[in-house]
Amino acid sequence: MHDPDAFRRAQDFLALVPKPADRKALAKAGIADVDSLLRYFPRRWVDPGTFTRIRGLSDLEEGEDVVLHVTVVSVASRRMQSRRGTISTVSVTDHEGGFVDAVFFNQPWIGSRLTEGLRILLSAKIKHYRGRVQLSSPSLLTADGRIAEDQDTGEVQPLEPTRPVPVYRVAGKMTSSRFHTLITTALDTVRDSWFEDTVPEFLRQKHTLVDLRTGYEAMHRPATMQDVDAARPRWAYEEALALQTVLHQRRKEHAALSASALPGKDDGTLAAFDRALPFDLTLSQMHAGVDIGAELAGDVPMNRLLQGDVGSGKTLVALRAMLQAVDSGAQAAMLAPTEVLAAQHYRSLTAALGDFAAESALLRQENGVVIALLTGSLSTTERRRILIDLAIGDIDIVVGTHALLSETTIFYGLGMVVVDEQHRFGVEQREALRQKAGGKTPHTLVMTATPIPRTAAMTVFGDLDVSTLSHMPTGEKRITTHLVPLARYPQWIQRVVEVVGEHAARDEQTFVVLPRIETAEPDPVTGVPQPGVEDYAAFLQSFPSLAEARVEVLHGQMPTQDKDDVMRAFSAGDIDVLVATTVVEVGIDVPNARVMVIVDADRFGVAQLHQLRGRVGRAGDESLCFLLTHTPDESEAMERLTTVTDTLDGFQLAEYDIRTRREGDVLGRAQWGGKSSLKHLSVLRDEAIIRNARDDAEELLTVDPSLLGTPALARLISLIFATADEDLIEAS
Ligand code: ADP
Ligand code: MG
Repeated sequence: MHDPDAFRRAQDFLALVPKPADRKALAKAGIADVDSLLRYFPRRWVDPGTFTRIRGLSDLEEGEDVVLHVTVVSVASRRMQSRRGTISTVSVTDHEGGFVDAVFFNQPWIGSRLTEGLRILLSAKIKHYRGRVQLSSPSLLTADGRIAEDQDTGEVQPLEPTRPVPVYRVAGKMTSSRFHTLITTALDTVRDSWFEDTVPEFLRQKHTLVDLRTGYEAMHRPATMQDVDAARPRWAYEEALALQTVLHQRRKEHAALSASALPGKDDGTLAAFDRALPFDLTLSQMHAGVDIGAELAGDVPMNRLLQGDVGSGKTLVALRAMLQAVDSGAQAAMLAPTEVLAAQHYRSLTAALGDFAAESALLRQENGVVIALLTGSLSTTERRRILIDLAIGDIDIVVGTHALLSETTIFYGLGMVVVDEQHRFGVEQREALRQKAGGKTPHTLVMTATPIPRTAAMTVFGDLDVSTLSHMPTGEKRITTHLVPLARYPQWIQRVVEVVGEHAARDEQTFVVLPRIETAEPDPVTGVPQPGVEDYAAFLQSFPSLAEARVEVLHGQMPTQDKDDVMRAFSAGDIDVLVATTVVEVGIDVPNARVMVIVDADRFGVAQLHQLRGRVGRAGDESLCFLLTHTPDESEAMERLTTVTDTLDGFQLAEYDIRTRREGDVLGRAQWGGKSSLKHLSVLRDEAIIRNARDDAEELLTVDPSLLGTPALARLISLIFATADEDLIEAS
């Protein structure tokens, strides 16, 4: 602890929380100093106007949360009969004279703290037990049910809450009221220097934000709920500023790295390839191509995200970039998340190259490009040959999984890397890449088919430049999606299978996708069967309409050779129905596949369903997607499925996804490298805040690159990003 400031903070904390057991409980909740204690914000506030009446309790549903302001009538504690531990029953009454029992388990101190006549605030859940209502898992909200003493008369007054009461998430033995006591003590006693603001004054003024101390007061002891609302923009802005500051720093760090310039050649392979293309590039492919081409030509490493829906032509954009690298005498690598996808990329790149693809360096004609697939399933001899060719520069483009970055792969001159999926490199991988690129940083292009709304991109991928392919080169696909609610209409499965059979009879193929490989026990609640891949294939074949059809299975646990064989056979049209897991999710192009059947569709996320659906049909052809589900009509899952059924717009679905799921889950900490996900900021709602913070961060760093003037902001950033890089390594 060399930072004297940090030392003072630790001293303050020790003084506040003298008991080691409490400190341990706090540390478990991620609170080890005063900063994080004050930043432990209430989960919600209870407004005194919203207390529940005891008389109304029996009308409430099991599990509902209530808050009561009541008087203790009696307390009885006893040992439990069937289990170890104690049970304390606290009988309480309110001003209308209703009675109810609150039941505390294993909190023997309850008896000594709650005495008859004490006024308390209780937060609890409704439980119906033997025909009566009980309050279960209750917690005491006011500071230990303290009794306020009247200053003048010395008379004991019950505590009558008139202000909103903050409710904190409990941590071990630290109850909500204990948190409140600790935090308010901190607010009253810690020294002023300690409320040094994370947001510089000129920025607070510019955006009319409350200062740090006012912000804390408003969260922890607001006079009214308006106080809370008035403070909130400050916390959102602070978070945005910290985030944008880090992203801006990263952009600058990145710009200081050096890459090999890959300017290409005027009369090189790329030029010849473009001349031979049987179609024109779309406008957005051209834009992306110009940006990428210019960045490759420079010696600052490209760090770009290429996003676009399935079929928008990303692969072609990536290939053209790789050709520019090859024209410059460098090698390019494409990394895929799985071996199936690597193989698929290899096939589509080879197909796109057409006559430009050369078998080997020996047979390389003018403008010939040698492309290789490096996977785990190669024989030792083949593998060794590819590794040697890579090392001596006889391979121009190599496709593989992230295993390509392992130590045994040596490149002759790696110039650029294309990464398929939103995978961010951790520190180790970045270092591995640099070593493979002769100490330089290779240019990087990340492809993603999961569109990200603009502000989200600005937040999450703020250190990346973004190219978006916004229209479909071959026209929109016409996919009709049908929701099949099997809970209500079990017989509809008949019709779905018939449709698959009709397509098979016309030599049009079907994907059937399941959420699991192995058959699982039927759902214990609903009794719905949970078939695996093999069983479902057998089930389908038991229908007369599919008796003639050729049905095969594909899943991730099959040997690689078998997987490849099945995929090849399916691509060649030798299989009618492929029953598979999500190994088919991204990138598998089988133009003749017209039907996608997703079994237990409620098990998949919105983005995944949209990806899967994109696997069927060529533009112009009618294709079909069936979402099969047993989920009840009134469920969240059903709403999700209806949304997917109603729109084909990937961006709209992405927004829906972010709106309905916790943003942190969607945006994922590994994506922006933060320790925790966003706490106060909403990438959809707070677009203006994010924009402002982005400009402000840039301005701030231009004037004060090391944040010497705002040490509190620097500290907050290290608090948020402390373990970011370790996290990335774990996640990858
Ligand atoms: P993505 O990788 O974004 O899913 P692809 O690059 O695989 O999309 O392109 C989908 C299909 O569209 C491929 O068959 C590709 O050859 C074709 N394609 C790409 N760009 C164009 C274009 N500008 N005009 C016509 N067809 C195109
Ligand atoms: Mg593709």
